[in-house]
Amino acid sequence: MINEVIAVFLVLLVFKTGAELWLDRLNRANVLRFADSPPEAVREVMPDETYRRSVEYTLAKNRFSRVETLWGAAILAAVILSGVLPWYYGFFGEGGDRPVWAEGLFFVSTLILLSLPSLPFEWWSQFRLEERFGFNKTTLKLWISDRIKGLVIGFAIGYPLICLLLALVGWVGAYWWIWGFAIFFCFQLLMMVLYPMLIMPLFNKFTPLPEGELRKRLMELADRTGFRAKTIQVMDGSKRSAHSNAFFTGFGRFRRIVLFDTLMEQLGERELEAVLAHEIGHYKKGHIPRMLGLSAVMVLLAFGAIAWLAESAWFYQAFGFDPETAGLAPAFLLFALLSGLVTFWLSPLFNIMSRKHEYEADAFARDSVGEAEPLLRALRKLSEKNLSNLTPHPLYSAIYYSHPTLVEREAALRNA
Ligand code: ZN
Repeated sequence: MINEVIAVFLVLLVFKTGAELWLDRLNRANVLRFADSPPEAVREVMPDETYRRSVEYTLAKNRFSRVETLWGAAILAAVILSGVLPWYYGFFGEGGDRPVWAEGLFFVSTLILLSLPSLPFEWWSQFRLEERFGFNKTTLKLWISDRIKGLVIGFAIGYPLICLLLALVGWVGAYWWIWGFAIFFCFQLLMMVLYPMLIMPLFNKFTPLPEGELRKRLMELADRTGFRAKTIQVMDGSKRSAHSNAFFTGFGRFRRIVLFDTLMEQLGERELEAVLAHEIGHYKKGHIPRMLGLSAVMVLLAFGAIAWLAESAWFYQAFGFDPETAGLAPAFLLFALLSGLVTFWLSPLFNIMSRKHEYEADAFARDSVGEAEPLLRALRKLSEKNLSNLTPHPLYSAIYYSHPTLVEREAALRNA
């Protein structure tokens, strides 16, 4: 049984890694195919010079991604097959009575340690790759302080949460996982509200959009669409990156819309209005509760799976843990490390849903500003400024893209 479980692990790992590398290859070939003669639809929306830069940027990211994929797979295989996890677990107590705080510490500290091997890649991505294309605005000092801050905050939130979840089984018995689901889901809701209010300001400055013509125009749009925004926030994204964005967070009366300062610089008033209308569209079309509903199902399945694995002696044995004496933490940890091998194959389903939402929000934006043009101009400028790849392989975009490509969005906006 032990060998079978490890064999399944290896097969899943090879399949996922193989699929990732293969998709990268397909995408690379597709980008190269159009490198010198972009399709007509692309030529219409992006100047040639920008298109060439976007091809270079895509190919550079593609090379980086292949190395990163192989490195991640090698680390995971080494961690699972070497027996380092049960060995490390031994430091947190022998025998069957590890206190919850020690189990929680095992879980959190392992995840922190396992995040270290990817640090050089994060550094390279920011200070070599992004730098080369003029996107990096971060200093090394800021980058290091971001990492440390992230670690401290992650620990401060993650550690009490995992301890609470691990303690449940002692309090409520066999159905702890249903309670675990309820607690974790409430925690997600709470974070949707608290994250932009308390945590994001630790990294970025948020200022209300200043009084003036633009604010008046945007507030009118919010009133007209029944969004009733209290404030629109501007975030100093330019502190770290030249990439631009806008996003929507929270729900109910805690909802807020955030525009990056880089976006404000790149777009005109009408275009910003269209982008805001798109974000409001996500809210008005009920995308937030739908995503939350989906997330609830996933969380429930995850907790059910963890509870089942924790009861399965063969599972613990296969990964070198003693099922008689080990607590719940190894089941949580192994689930955290291994579930991606399975959920990877579900990502196209999530992306289908997400892309449907994007089309709906685009249509909403067009209808609420009265014409498609401002949004089209905004999307084109965003693609140019961010050097988006306009010719991804269809299979690649199906697996990885949560947003339709520019050409697809243009077509949808014009044809409706
Ligand atoms: Zn959107």
